[in-house]
Amino acid sequence: MNEVKCLSVVIPLYNEEENISPLHQRLESCLQSYGQPYEIIYVDDGSDDATFLELQGVAQKNPCVRVVQLSRNFGQTAAISAGIAHSNGAILIFMDGDLQNDPQDIPRLLKKLEEGYDVVSGWRRQRQDARFSRKIPSWLANRLISRVTGVYLHDFGCTLKAYRRQIFQHVRLYGEMHRFLPAYAALYGARIAELEVAHYPRRFGNSKYGISRTIRVVLDLLRLKFQASFDTKPMHGFGIPGLLWLLLSGVCFLLASISRFKLSKQDIKHSSAMGSNAIMCLGFGSLCMFIGLLGELMMRIYYETQGRKPYVVRQVIPPFHFYPVQNVLKSKSFVTDVAENVSETTMKQEL
Ligand code: UDP
Ligand code: MG
Repeated sequence: MNEVKCLSVVIPLYNEEENISPLHQRLESCLQSYGQPYEIIYVDDGSDDATFLELQGVAQKNPCVRVVQLSRNFGQTAAISAGIAHSNGAILIFMDGDLQNDPQDIPRLLKKLEEGYDVVSGWRRQRQDARFSRKIPSWLANRLISRVTGVYLHDFGCTLKAYRRQIFQHVRLYGEMHRFLPAYAALYGARIAELEVAHYPRRFGNSKYGISRTIRVVLDLLRLKFQASFDTKPMHGFGIPGLLWLLLSGVCFLLASISRFKLSKQDIKHSSAMGSNAIMCLGFGSLCMFIGLLGELMMRIYYETQGRKPYVVRQVIPPFHFYPVQNVLKSKSFVTDVAENVSETTMKQEL
């Protein structure tokens, strides 16, 4: 299968002035030789060096280049999100703008995508970054993310990935979640593959991240896990611990009552301690139940105001507009039944 599909390459940039010209040359020669229609969307994420001026120069010479300048530094995820919003391609490729990724990998990612995948994620097997501050924390984080999400990838952090646009109908990008995109996509049934890609040391500029990113990754992972487990059923997430607290409160209350009937000093002390425990557990339990109910309300608002469905259809066979409507009408099925019911009801109302 070799469909001709427009390709959008989205590149976030924050203070990468020296990288732009060599990056664009490599990218353009690679995309031109690939021979499919393409566009490149450079997102300047509020750089305070000459990044935007460089990008302007590139855009003036190339009609297939679009530059989106953000009003301040919003972070890599937001920059990617802006790039998606300004792109038209049926297939999206994200890559870093610091020359650490190789544009020559793009055709390989696309070939893999054509095998029927929705996401193809790059794996920097020979990653060229500092061992202790980057590679080891990243190795641990990847194992943790794989275990928690059930999406087994070696390298969630690699920006070089290919996506079908449909993925972004369901997945919105917030915070720093671009590295979790395959896991979010998998929540909606996306088919995911991984492919080894090249990785080079940074030659110009500095990395924008340090070891503190690991903590943020863990927090993002917690959010993802919660969403994966309780997205459409928050009452289950909070209701179960709530019920356990209420049960514990009941047990404490029972023990307090039993001790109350014994008359020793020790037992009266025990009884009042148990009474306080019962009240505390009752408070926690009620709070959990209340948050669960609130979550249910919010979930309904989220799905219903946006007309979202709690499921995703991959395909319908035959497609809806090919239904033989004439035959359906002739065979007096659903449509005619409905028509009859409607006229009956109208008649009854008129009577
Ligand atoms: N980046 C961005 N906004 C930011 C931080 C980074 O657009 O706030 C871009 C950056 O210019 C680069 C890519 O995201 O193109 C990856 O950043 P970096 O190379 O610093 O990350 P690392 O490769 O060290 O993980
Ligand atoms: Mg980098």
